[in-house]
Formats: sequence, C-alpha cells, structure tokens
Amino acid sequence: MFSILDHGKIPLLAEVDVLVAGAGSAGCCAAIAARESGRHSVLLLERYGFAGGSSTQMLDTFYGFFTPGAEPRKVVGGIPDRVVNALDAAGAVFLRPNTYGAGTGVNYNPERLKLVWDELLVRAGVRVLLHAHLVDAETVADGRIQSVVIWTKRGFYRIRATRFIDASGDADLCHAAGLSYEKAGDLEPAQTLTTTFRMSNVDLGAYEKAGGKKILAQKMAGAVDAGTHPLPRKAGSLHAMNARGCISTVAVRVADIDATDFEQLTAAEMEGRRQAFLYEAFLRDCVPGFAESNIIGLSHQIGVRETRRVHGEYRLTREDCLSVARFEDRVLLCGAPIEDHRAAPDGKSEETVWGYIPGGDAYDVPYRTLVPRGRDEILAIGRCFSATHDAHASCRSMGQTMAMGHAAGLAVALSLEKGCGVRDIPVSDLQQRLRGAGAVLETPRRIAHTAADAWAENFADPPAH
Ligand SMILES: Cc1cc2nc3c(=O)[nH]c(=O)nc-3n(C[C@H](O)[C@H](O)[C@H](O)COP(=O)(O)OP(=O)(O)OC[C@H]3O[C@@H](n4cnc5c(N)ncnc54)[C@H](O)[C@@H]3O)c2cc1C
Repeated sequence: MFSILDHGKIPLLAEVDVLVAGAGSAGCCAAIAARESGRHSVLLLERYGFAGGSSTQMLDTFYGFFTPGAEPRKVVGGIPDRVVNALDAAGAVFLRPNTYGAGTGVNYNPERLKLVWDELLVRAGVRVLLHAHLVDAETVADGRIQSVVIWTKRGFYRIRATRFIDASGDADLCHAAGLSYEKAGDLEPAQTLTTTFRMSNVDLGAYEKAGGKKILAQKMAGAVDAGTHPLPRKAGSLHAMNARGCISTVAVRVADIDATDFEQLTAAEMEGRRQAFLYEAFLRDCVPGFAESNIIGLSHQIGVRETRRVHGEYRLTREDCLSVARFEDRVLLCGAPIEDHRAAPDGKSEETVWGYIPGGDAYDVPYRTLVPRGRDEILAIGRCFSATHDAHASCRSMGQTMAMGHAAGLAVALSLEKGCGVRDIPVSDLQQRLRGAGAVLETPRRIAHTAADAWAENFADPPAH
C-alpha cells in the first residue's frame, strides 16, 4: 500500500504456509507452535543476528508467569514453560520472589536464552532467517496480504505465505499492509524508553548489608537533590543477575519519543547511553558495594515499551483488567498490574503508575485481541496486540507475550487445517489444543504451598553474592 518498490522485479525467496515477522518472545513461540501443529512450513524473520527480541536484547527476567502478592498463582504454561525448563536444564534460571510489584520474576541468563531460542526453533523445524528486515507487504485487490518483502545484504526478496503473524513489536507488517492501529502518544503519553545496562564486580553482600533497595533510593534522592550527579530521576531499580557479582538495571528514562521515527530514536539511543554512564558514576561514588564495579554491557538497543497497537476485533481495556473480565474466547490469562512508565508533569522525574488486578486475580485475554479487524490472513501479537494504552501496560510482560505466541501459532495452524480465515476458527478447538499443550486458561485456586514455591524447588538458587 505504501510501497515504492516494484514487487514484480523482486525475486521470490520462498513460499510457505506461515510467515512470522519478528523473532521476539511472541514470534518465537508462535513459530514453534505453528510448526509443531500439523508440520506446516513456517518461516520466521528477524532483523538482528539472534532471536528473542527484548528477552535477549535488553532483559533478564520473565514477568507475568505469576500473579503478584503474598500467594502467587501461576497463570502461564505451555510453550513458555518449555522455554523456562530449557533454561533450567542449563542451570541458567532462578526465581526472584515478588519483586517490584510485578510479582515473582523468572530470572535467566539472557546469553543462554539466545541459544535456547535457537535450539527450540531448530528442533521444531522452523526456517529462521536472521539479518532479514521486513520492509514491505504486497497486497492483492481485496487488500489481503499475499507476500512480504525483506531487505538483506544480498538484496531484496519476496516471501509468499498463506498466513501471517505480525510479531515485530512495532506492527511493521500491519503498517506496511495499511491496517489500522493506534500509535503510542496519540491519545495518552507514550511510555518512556529505557537503555538497560549491566555492571560487574559488584559486592552484592556489602550492598545488601547497607540496606539494598532502601539505601539505593536514599542515595539517588540525595545525589539529585545535592546536584552531585545529574541523574534523570530519583528512581531506578537494580537486581542480581545470573552471574556472580553482576547486576542489571532498569533506571534510564527517555521520554516523549516516537520510537517508529528513526531520527527521534537516534537521539534516544544516544541519550540512553549518556544516562547509563551517569548512573555508573553515581553507583560507584555513592552506593556501598559498587566502588570497584563498572558497566560491562548496554542493551542491544534502547528498550521500547510501546509503539503501534493494532485495531483488532476486540480491544482490551483498562476496565477489562481492573474488573477481572471473563471472555468466552480467552486464550491466555494475565494477572500483571498496569505498570505505566511515564514522565511526571514536572518533566524531570518519572512516575510509574501502578494499577493492581483486584484480589490478586487474573483476567482473561480474548482471542479477538490478536485478530486485526476484518482480517482473515493475519494475526498481530505481543507488543502490538489490540489494547488500549493502560491495558497494554498490564498485558505486555513476556509471560503473556509468549502465551500470545503459543495461541497464535496454534490458531493459524487450525485455520489452515479447517480452510477458514483466522477470524472464523472454532475457538473452542483452539482452547482445547492450548489446554492439551499445558497452557493455563482457568485461574488456578490459591494453594497453601504456592505454585511459585513448587516450581522454585526445581530451580537453582540465586547466585551467591
Ligand atoms: C525497558 C523495558 C523493560 C521491560 N522489563 C520487562 C521485564 O523485566 N519482564 C517482562 O516480562 N517484560 C518486560 N518488558 C516488556 C517486554 O519485554 C515486552 O513487552 C515483550 O518482550 C515484547 O515481546 P514481543 O515479542 O512482542 O516484541 P519484541 O521483544 O520487541 O520482539 C520483536 C522482534 O521483532 C524484530 N523486528 C522488529 N521489526 C522488524 C522488522 N521490520 N523486520 C524483522 N524483524 C523485526 C525485533 O528485532 C524483535 O526481535 C520490558 C520492556 C522494556 C522496553
């Protein structure tokens, strides 16, 4: 639709049943599920040199597997569980109980996760193309997407497919095909961006002894108020990684950016790096345990929380989250709070606005939020699924994006099998297949010995300080 490319002159690289755009946590799970269900030919595209998206580009903790609170309930299973189990088999995972309001986190070694994604994808038989950037979509007269165009160092190629899954985070495929969406910042301020960074040689014992989180908050406020370190805000978190004496942070904050605009994103990347080294100086100078530490890694790119959110057959809302909505066509659950990272009105600090799901419960996420309005050939999942700003701020943890991927992969397989559009699949069949594959579709009852404890017993202990 927006194309200036002459599609007829672009060579056809492949013709497949299912094309998945973007190998983030959502896209990888979707590709595995689609391939394993009926042995359809599945091709997964990724612009970078490794799979995982945010899970490997910038993060090290899966949230969303558990509801927060004193009695966490496990609300995600299926393929996401297989990812965690593969990490566990490599000794690369531990649980972080009830951290920062988001509930129990599953901490992993992100470098090992790159290998785990490779292994799961290859074992399933997914054809993976790395360093392949989706740049265009070819539609036919009725607007249906017929193929995508990728740019590689070898040139442009077309890939034809019967079903498409947009898991690019930014809805690049839907955008290229002219589908409608809401852009972050259009109605409410877009969530802020964060360059995460990692530091080594931290004496975590000394840090905890001095007060841990409490001393960090105190020192940050002190440094900002006294003007000794011009940090962007008085907040920010850090946590022990899956490697001895190493920490990872969510501290940097860059506001008011349209992350689909490359010039704004360029400025944000540079600003993110600048802020990261301000935090390094602050931590070394002011926080017990950090004197001999330094940055050993910045995120592969600045972390983008939201950009385009596709208009789907249903739009998940704040009310759905806070009223613990139930839907007949649910395909996953979410108990994660609304966690909205936004710039405070003074422009100098950040407010993270939290909205908890009442009763430590989990709401249903309907299948229709994955189906772009009026479409038969494409699903949009993960960071670009159909939700309002607030609902997205709840339902964007990787537990949920992986669960969306699992559901979407099975859904496209089902639509191929039944010879119907993705809108018309029998959702009860999809739910049955999801349950059969270990996905959680009913909120588990609270149990005295919590699901988190039971799961944790199988896992390694956190690394010694
Ligand atoms: C700073 C930050 C901190 C967060 N902290 C946590 C946390 O601690 N725990 C948690 O569970 N969640 C956290 N989240 C949220 C979570 O990481 C994301 O919502 C989730 O990872 C999104 O997954 P996704 O697969 O939809 O998208 P992504 O992970 O963004 O994956 C999209 C993939 O598509 C690829 N791609 C994009 N465009 C193209 C293209 N045109 N062609 C080819 N490939 C393309 C990208 O390279 C990427 O690999 C955080 C997010 C941010 C930004």
